Amino acid sequence: MQAEPDKTDQLPELSVIIPVYNEEPNLYRLYQQLIATLDNMPESWEVIFIDDASQDGSFGILSELHDKDKRIRVIRFRRNYGQTAGLSAGFDHARGQIVITLDADLQNDPADIPMLLEKMREGGYDIVSGWRKERKDNTLLRKVPSHVANWLISRVTGVYLHDYGCSLKLYRSEVVHNVSLYGELHRFVPALASWMGVSILEVPVHHHPRTAGKSKYNLSRTGRVLLDLITVNFLLNYSVKPMHIFGKWGIISFLVGFAIALYLTILKLTTGAQLAQRPLLFLAILLIIVGVQFISMGLLAELLIRIYYEAQHKPIYMVREVLDD
Ligand code: UDP
Ligand code: MG
Repeated sequence: MQAEPDKTDQLPELSVIIPVYNEEPNLYRLYQQLIATLDNMPESWEVIFIDDASQDGSFGILSELHDKDKRIRVIRFRRNYGQTAGLSAGFDHARGQIVITLDADLQNDPADIPMLLEKMREGGYDIVSGWRKERKDNTLLRKVPSHVANWLISRVTGVYLHDYGCSLKLYRSEVVHNVSLYGELHRFVPALASWMGVSILEVPVHHHPRTAGKSKYNLSRTGRVLLDLITVNFLLNYSVKPMHIFGKWGIISFLVGFAIALYLTILKLTTGAQLAQRPLLFLAILLIIVGVQFISMGLLAELLIRIYYEAQHKPIYMVREVLDD
């Protein structure tokens, strides 16, 4: 008879991913809150802290926690890469079927995890996203810009969420393993994952004011979020057919330019009109050049995406299941 496998040898069912940057005063309490919640759940778990090259004593505390409890894993970055890179490293190392993300500053409440997991299982959702319905942050500097950003992101991506910025989220592992993150795109995971067809539920969660350590962000982030939105929209709609956007505007620009040039030429030939002084001539030249540029850019983009998908064997589709005897 086979020996009963040791539970610690098995892969954990839950992976909790926590990016950390200078959060020394919060880490012990966070650990205690995590243990209090996770140890009361039937699932096996791991917590992965990503130390984003903190300059305070964060790493010391994390390595102590790891010594004490091997379910705590720590990844330490060589330099500060930002929260998105931290989450991305966590996703790469996560072994659980369900991946949970959370901030290290105790603004999210680990005690919400069982409730969110329950909802995920009930409805068979791929993503359950926390919603800081009663958000405890500065109203003018954080909440108002965030409302505008959430509205805009929802409209543009077609994935409607009240709170993209809430870090507390649950994902089925196949979601995070099929979305690549760059720059500061971590908040867009639900939108980016929509390419593979995901079901998403948003659930109100607790939110607390930051009591220790400093926030790493300010208002300028909202501006960057808007730029990222352009990228995300492009990735979602055109990343496998860039010619459809570049080509469309290229052809429109070229044709309008060509029509104007034609009109001016006919005018010149029939009436002998002077063209050198006419702004319309410059407009025609501009539109024709821009049109040709756009079309060439579209062709280049088509070449690039072939390299991107083929060199990395990236799929352009995701299969839910196959029925085949
Ligand atoms: N964080 C990080 N690297 C950074 C900035 C932030 O890992 O360069 C972590 C930070 O420690 C926290 C989370 O990302 O766990 C969210 O940061 P913060 O609480 O400052 O953001 P806010 O809640 O103010 O939006
Ligand atoms: Mg915070």
